[in-house]
This record gives sequence, C-alpha cells and structure tokens, in this order.
Amino acid sequence: MSAKRASSKTQTDKAVPLAQIRTLGDPVLRQQTKPVTAFDARLKKLAQVMMEVMVRDEGVGLAANQIGVVSRVMVWRNPDADEERYAWVNPVIVEESEARCTEIEGCLSVPGAAMEVARAEEVVVECQDLSGEPLRVRLVGLPARIAQHEIDHLEGRLILDRASPEERRRVMKELREQALAVET
Ligand code: ZN
Repeated sequence: MSAKRASSKTQTDKAVPLAQIRTLGDPVLRQQTKPVTAFDARLKKLAQVMMEVMVRDEGVGLAANQIGVVSRVMVWRNPDADEERYAWVNPVIVEESEARCTEIEGCLSVPGAAMEVARAEEVVVECQDLSGEPLRVRLVGLPARIAQHEIDHLEGRLILDRASPEERRRVMKELREQALAVET
C-alpha cells in the first residue's frame, strides 16, 4: 500500500502499518465510518492487516475504526464453521428477529470488561466482498452477535451503549479500579 497519496488519505496510510487497537476514550471509536467505493489493492491490504490483528489479539471480529481507519470494513471468523474468516465491506443489517438473547460480550477496544448485552438472535446482513460483489447473509446465534457488534463499531457504537445502565455503571467502576491499579 502506498503512503504517498493525497492528504485526505493520510489517516488510513498512517493507521494501517501501526495496527494498534484503539481503546475506550479514543474518538475514532465514536466516528461513523465512511462507505467504501474503491475495491482496490488498498482495501485488500486493509482487510489483510485487520485479519492479522484480529488473530493476533484473539478477537472473533474487528472493525476498521478499531485500528484507526474510518472505512466501513469489518472482518470476523465464524466459531460455528471451523473459524472460517470473512472480510465484509459496507455491511448493513437489513433484517433482524424480534427474538433477542442476552450473552456476555467482550471487546478488544474495552479491554478487561465483559458485560451482558442483549441482541437480536438472528439477522440478515447485506454487504460486499473485497471485489465489490454483493452478498446477502442470514446469521443466527454467535455469528449474528459478532456481526451486530462489529456493525455497531462501524457506526460509532460500543458495547457500553448496549448494556443496561446497571451493567454500564458496574463496568465503568471496574475499569476505573483497573486504571488505578495500573497507576499505583
Ligand atoms: Zn468490539
């Protein structure tokens, strides 16, 4: 990937080689990501880096803004299908079940926190692959949860926003205590 592009591209170019996971408090996690229009080598490189970071940090999914890139791209691996990996571009949830389930979720961008999050049990996602081919996929259970989590990231939302007020208070208290423990 070239780093010698127009200035509007610098954020992407700088962020990818570093590939640090951005954590709570970083404003990029609150940004609405931009739709991808160029299905080029740059996009493939971004997806490749995201896959590497996801595996390195033992995540099941990763959104581009978690490594500081404000593009609507997510990667994930399916624990129900031999860890098969996917890179999805411009994903949108077009249908979701009324049935919801609550499970404990963690997030690479909120390290050390695990909280109960209620999500639709089943969703239909429309997206594109790295070549721009449209896909429509129905997901149930854990894969549906992963997709909802990552698409939330792409819209600037975090699990804290989905947790109940009590859960959020508990987790924020834990995070403050962790931070104090690190300082002392
Ligand atoms: Zn996350």
